[in-house]
Amino acid sequence: MVYGIGLDIGGTKVAAGIVSSDGEVLFKKTVPTPEMGKEEILTLVKTIILELIEWADSHKVRLEGIGIGTAGQVDFNKRKVISGTPNIQNWNGVNLQEEITVYTDLPVFVDNDVNVLALAEHRFGAAQGYQEVICLALGTGIGGGILTKGELIRGAWGGGAELGHMSIDIHGEACNCGLRGCLETYASGTWIAKRMQKAREEKGLPTNVTSRDVFLLYQNGDLLATQVIETMIHGLSYGIVNLIHLFNPQVVVLGGGVMSKGQWIIDLVNKKISTMGMRSLVDSVELKLSELENDSGLIGAAMQAWLYNKKA
Ligand SMILES: [Zn+2]
Repeated sequence: MVYGIGLDIGGTKVAAGIVSSDGEVLFKKTVPTPEMGKEEILTLVKTIILELIEWADSHKVRLEGIGIGTAGQVDFNKRKVISGTPNIQNWNGVNLQEEITVYTDLPVFVDNDVNVLALAEHRFGAAQGYQEVICLALGTGIGGGILTKGELIRGAWGGGAELGHMSIDIHGEACNCGLRGCLETYASGTWIAKRMQKAREEKGLPTNVTSRDVFLLYQNGDLLATQVIETMIHGLSYGIVNLIHLFNPQVVVLGGGVMSKGQWIIDLVNKKISTMGMRSLVDSVELKLSELENDSGLIGAAMQAWLYNKKA
């Protein structure tokens, strides 16, 4: 058994812990992401890492390394954030390895948060036993991870699999990436809420609704919520069928905050895609809910400590 430190840095929270190579989280800490951005986050990361190292020392746990999953595009080889997410201030260009190796000798690995989520789901969760896997994390935005022959597809420097920014309508809503009609503008929590707010505004109704509220209203038969959810399912189904056509996966795993208790979403998408796209490809795919939910980012981040350390 080996152990690593995992850190999952997102726009709203930083989750950190010590994880064993059989996926057990031995010690975990979750704190809100500091709003001031880079400097504050790096200070927080340092405090957490030093605390975890101390915990490991006092419990006689030998650490292999530190793995980080962060929102934004990451240059995997340089362990550097190439393009920060709009949800974290000044996160562009941060070299996490350089920053962290100042105060620890442990090797540091950095990857995109949904890439490491895909690693965790493949090893311990819903994609166990599959080699051709697509993961979609539906949250504030939509992130993606693709495994083929059980390995992540990274592209030239690690920025690949931005599946949320696959456009499915060139005349669609303007997305923050510069394109129109991205998958994210249909099925992210932000856009589910935004669509509902717009629809309610037109009817003169209060507009302070979240995506969770939209789901509750939908379950109670609210007409506007039904329209918003239909649009979401339609967009998500198009996105998933595109991915199935492109990659011929065995399984598509759906996770992230939007998918929490989201089997009903999978049921609706399954119904929709049963009449969409190429039957030979679409019929053979299983859609599954993430099985690790809250801890998948943390576990996947830590997995880098032994996966890549061995290869190095
Ligand atoms: Zn986009």
